[in-house]
Amino acid sequence: MKDVIPAPQVPRVPVTGGASVFPVHRIYCVGRNYVEHAIEMGHSGREPPFFFMKPADAVLPVGEGDAGAMPYPPLTANLHHELELVVAIGKGGRDIAPADALDHVWGYAVGLDMTRRDLQNDMKKQGRPWCIGKGFEASAPIGAITPAAAVPGIHDAAIELWVNGQPRQGSRTGKLIWSVAEVISHLSAAWTLAPGDLIYSGTPEGVAAVVRGDLLEARIEGLSPLKLSIV
Ligand code: MN
Repeated sequence: MKDVIPAPQVPRVPVTGGASVFPVHRIYCVGRNYVEHAIEMGHSGREPPFFFMKPADAVLPVGEGDAGAMPYPPLTANLHHELELVVAIGKGGRDIAPADALDHVWGYAVGLDMTRRDLQNDMKKQGRPWCIGKGFEASAPIGAITPAAAVPGIHDAAIELWVNGQPRQGSRTGKLIWSVAEVISHLSAAWTLAPGDLIYSGTPEGVAAVVRGDLLEARIEGLSPLKLSIV
C-alpha cells in the first residue's frame, strides 16, 4: 500500500566515532532519582521510581565536537535544565531482572531533560498530565552515544552542567536512587522495552532556569560532552 502522506522519519542520534547513528524508538524519563533533587522539589527522596515519556522526535541530537541550538519554546517563562545520564537500549525485553538488565544496554550519552517548569507545576497542582511541561519539541537534547563497553566507570561517574562558564549542577551517577539496572527492571515490568529506547535516568540537584543566549555545557566522565545554546 502507498503512504498517503510522507512517512515520518525515525529520529537518530550520532554515535561516537562519527560513522554510525542510533535510531530512536521511545524516550522514557525517570522522575526524582537523586535524593537532593527530590528534596529541592519538595519530596522526601524515598519513593518507588516513576516514569513519564517524551515523543521520540523530541530528541535534539548534538554530534561530537558540535554545539547544538535549542529554540526557546513557546508558552513558558521558566525553561529549566535537568542534566541526566541517558541509557540507550540495544536489546528489548520485558520483566527484565536487575541482574540481566545491563545486557540490554547499547550505550550511554549525556542528555538534558528540558522542562517548561511553570507549565509542569500548573499541571501538578491540577493533577493533570505533565506532557505540556515535558514533551515538547527539542525538549530532549542529547550528545553522541558511547558504546557501553567503552565506559565501564559510568555507574559512578562525575556528572556536571555549566551555564555560561558557571557551575550549575554537579553530582555523581553513583548517587542515583534507582540504579540503571533497577530502572530498566522497573520500566520493563510496565512496558516492553525495544531496541532504540532511550531512558533519561533523572537529574541531580541544581535545576534552574535558562534564557535565550545561554550556553550550556553538560559533561559526564567518559562520555562525549553536550554543548547547547538557547536561541
Ligand atoms: Mn528529568
